Amino acid sequence: MTNNSVWMHIGAGSFHRAHQAWYLHKLRQQGDECWGIALGNIRSDAAPLLQQLAAQSGEYVLETVTPEGERAYETITSLRKILPWDSDISALVEQGAKTETRVISFTVTEAGYYLTPEHELDLEQADVQADVKGDIRTIYGALARILSQRLAKGGAPVTLLNCDNLRHNGERFRHGFLAFLAAQGDRALADWVRTSTTSPNTMVDRITPRPTPDVAERVKAATGKDDGAAVMAESFIQWVIEDDFIAGRPPLEKVGVELVESVLPWEEAKIRILNATHAAIAWAGTLIGLNYIDDSTRQPAIYQLAYDYVTQDVMPSLSPSPLNLADYRDVVLARFSNPYIKDTNQRVGADGLSKIPGMVTPTLRECYQRGAEPAATAVLPALFFLFLQRWADDDLPYTYQDGVLQADVLRQQFSRSDALTAFLSDSALFGELAQDKAFHALVTRTVADLQNWLKQPQPALAEG
Ligand code: NAD
Repeated sequence: MTNNSVWMHIGAGSFHRAHQAWYLHKLRQQGDECWGIALGNIRSDAAPLLQQLAAQSGEYVLETVTPEGERAYETITSLRKILPWDSDISALVEQGAKTETRVISFTVTEAGYYLTPEHELDLEQADVQADVKGDIRTIYGALARILSQRLAKGGAPVTLLNCDNLRHNGERFRHGFLAFLAAQGDRALADWVRTSTTSPNTMVDRITPRPTPDVAERVKAATGKDDGAAVMAESFIQWVIEDDFIAGRPPLEKVGVELVESVLPWEEAKIRILNATHAAIAWAGTLIGLNYIDDSTRQPAIYQLAYDYVTQDVMPSLSPSPLNLADYRDVVLARFSNPYIKDTNQRVGADGLSKIPGMVTPTLRECYQRGAEPAATAVLPALFFLFLQRWADDDLPYTYQDGVLQADVLRQQFSRSDALTAFLSDSALFGELAQDKAFHALVTRTVADLQNWLKQPQPALAEG
């Protein structure tokens, strides 16, 4: 690979800086400086952070913490170019059109793909409609703008790498993107995307809470640096990628990335055992008045419901697996219990309306298909219903963020006496189970059980 290959990343959130940027930093530390990252963002919310990073020459400190509380500090040096934000994303377009850019990766949240429960692009969404007409609000509009410029400049192949928590994230993005280009009527670009880009599926993992002010304080105390872009994460990190890079890649295997033929077993385990459980703990913790994931996980009743969901329903669904699923479950629950990662129930509980269909409904469906009642999984939608009810009553201690939330419609639904039936009848959440009487009865029973549980005094927290 040439000496100046660029890995462009779209989505200047915390996660990219703790994950992909860390791996490329490790490679540079080993003396391989062929690849550097150019970082930009579609939306204006990251503009101040990009300015701050530019002022720090792209460098920032990553704090990591083990479950035992050992903290480590590293100055990450892989961000070689910071692309300033403007409403035309002109810096992203310019960089993305260059042949030296061989990989374009992105983290734009789960809701940033605007897919229906059938995994089709939802052309009804206002953001998507605006982008079809040429606006830049979504990853699709942004990439259409970037790649049409790339095509005009010679059309060198490039890998489009989705790093969001989405099942079959490469395939689903690609399917959505091609549907978007079809809606735009850009046949030439669509044909070029088909032949000159690849979209490997990936599984990404490292819990990265939104940085709180005390991160910068600890970074200052440990390193002496005033860092306005410091980020913190757990010490655990994992990245599994299908090895299908059309224009070359860094030798990521040298820094612990698993390059595999199919990412499927890893992503299913991650999405169902880690992500779905994480969200359920956040909803349950919020319902009993807790703010943090670690406190919530260490509540015996919450730990048990998470453990039962994985053990009773998910493990039979995913077996056989190349992973040791019981070990994976135990490591995940230990990571969630890490008292040094003050990850919030607010962050983890967000986007439930996308998480239920993507992360929970497949397990419900598969339990029924093998003749088992998904009693332990029914707890997840039941918790989410009770959580949404609190939201509708303006009784959450924080703002609930959800990329597909239509607040008016949902509030109206929750003002009805049959709100639970309406919730369970939503095929966008539950697919064909929305019509299933046994499923309705199961979740209705589970909601009643949880309501009883919520009336009981909760045991005091063990010291973290
Ligand atoms: P963040 O809140 O720090 O950043 C979110 C980023 O997404 C911002 O750059 C924002 O501008 C952008 N964005 C939001 N909605 C968008 C949309 N509809 N279109 C385009 N851009 C949009 O979040 P983060 O911690 O960086 O996490 C981002 C994503 O990374 C997650 O949603 C998840 O899919 C993945 N991820 C995060 C973690 C974690 O622990 N934080 C772990 C694994 C995977």
